[in-house]
Amino acid sequence: MAQLDTRQKLEILADAAKYDASCSSSGTTKRKSAGGKGIGSTEGMGICHAYAPDGRCISLLKILLTNSCIFDCHYCINRKSSNVRRARFTAQEVVQLTLAFYKRNYIEGLFLSSGIIRSSNYTMEQIVEVARSLREDHDFRGYIHLKTIPDADPELVHQAGLYADRVSINVELPTTGGLKRLAPEKSETRIEGAMAGMKSAIIDTADARTRYRSAPRFAPAGQSTQMIVGADAATDGDIVTRASSLYGRFGLRRVYYSAFSPIPDASAVLPLQRPPLMREHRLYQSDWLMRFYGYQPREVVAAADPSTGMLPLDIDPKLAWALRFREHFPLDINRAPREMLLRVPGLGVKAVNAILRARRWRRLGLDDVARLTVSVAKVRPFIVAEGWRPVALADKLDLKPLVAPRREQLELFAA
Ligand code: SF4
Repeated sequence: MAQLDTRQKLEILADAAKYDASCSSSGTTKRKSAGGKGIGSTEGMGICHAYAPDGRCISLLKILLTNSCIFDCHYCINRKSSNVRRARFTAQEVVQLTLAFYKRNYIEGLFLSSGIIRSSNYTMEQIVEVARSLREDHDFRGYIHLKTIPDADPELVHQAGLYADRVSINVELPTTGGLKRLAPEKSETRIEGAMAGMKSAIIDTADARTRYRSAPRFAPAGQSTQMIVGADAATDGDIVTRASSLYGRFGLRRVYYSAFSPIPDASAVLPLQRPPLMREHRLYQSDWLMRFYGYQPREVVAAADPSTGMLPLDIDPKLAWALRFREHFPLDINRAPREMLLRVPGLGVKAVNAILRARRWRRLGLDDVARLTVSVAKVRPFIVAEGWRPVALADKLDLKPLVAPRREQLELFAA
C-alpha cells in the first residue's frame, strides 16, 4: 500500500464510507466552492448527520478504518477484487482525528466501519481499540456508532457495545438466496446470531441498570441494520416482510434501506442500473407505517401490486392501501377509532391526535381538518365530517389521479 498522509487517507476512507446509509444526509443538490466562488460544499464526504435517541441531530465523523477487505461481496466497492485505491488508518490515527475534529467543533461523534483485514477478530479488535481509547484514555463523551463484524468473537462484539452508543451489523440482502449469491462469504445465521447476542446484552444491561445504577451500559442507542435494495430480485414485499421480522426478533431501532448503486468495475452478476431512488423512499414510508401507524407487514404487502410484489412508485404506500381497500372508507372523523384515523391518507400522527383531542368538545367539520393537514384534497374523499360527506368519491374508479401528488423530480442520492 502506497504511503499516504492523513489527509489522503481521510479522503479515501471517508468516501468509501458513504455507501453505508445507517447515518446519512443525502438528497441535496451538488454544490461546491472549490473554484474560489462562495463558501461551503455539499459534495465532501466524511461528516454525516444522525439522530440521537433524544431526537437531537448530531454530526458524526463517518469513516472506515480501512477499505481493504479479504471478502469479495459482489456489490461492494471495497471487495477484494475491486480496483480501488486502498488506505488504512491505525486505531490511534482515528482516535486523534476524532479528537481533533471534536475540539474544532466539526463533529459530535464518530461512525466507524471497516473492511475486514487479516481476520474478523483482528478487525474487530482494532475497532474496539478506537472506542476504548476514546472513552478510557481521553474520557470522550461524544456519540459513537460502531459497525461490528458478525464473524468476530462474541466477546469482542460485546466490548464494542460497552463503549458504543449504537452498534450495527448489516444484513446486506433481504433474502437468504440473495446473500448467498452476492456475498458468499457471509452467513445469514452468523449475522442473525450476532444480532441476537446484541439484543440479549442490550436487554440484560438495561435491566441491570434499573437495579444498580453502576451497572455498565451496553449500546444505549440500540442496534440497527442496513439492507441493499435492487441488487437482487427481492420484491418490496420480501423487503418489508424481512424488515418487520428483524424488528420483531432483534428489537432493532432502525432498518436502513440503501438503493443499490452501480460501482466501478462491477461484477457481472449485478444489475447494470440502479433501482429508482423513489423505491428506497417508498420502503422508508412503509417502515414508518409499521413503526408509527400500526400497519401489519401483511397490510403493507397488500398495498403492493400483486403481480410484481412492488409498491407503486407514483403514490405513497398509505394512499395505495386506501385505494386498494376502499371498503374501509369514508371514515367519520368524529367517531372513528384512532387506529382507523391513522389510515386516512393525508392524516399524520399529530393530526390524528389533534382530532381526537378536539372532538371531545365539539363535532369537527372539513375546515377543522383542513387546518391540520397539508392537503385537504387528499383527505376529503376518505372522510365524513360535520357538513361533509363525499358523494361516492371513494368508489370512483378514477379517484387515484384526483388524490395522487403531482409528479416532482427527486434529487438523486449524492453519490
Ligand atoms: S465484508 Fe464488507 S467491506 Fe468486505 S467486501 Fe463485504 S461488504 Fe465490502
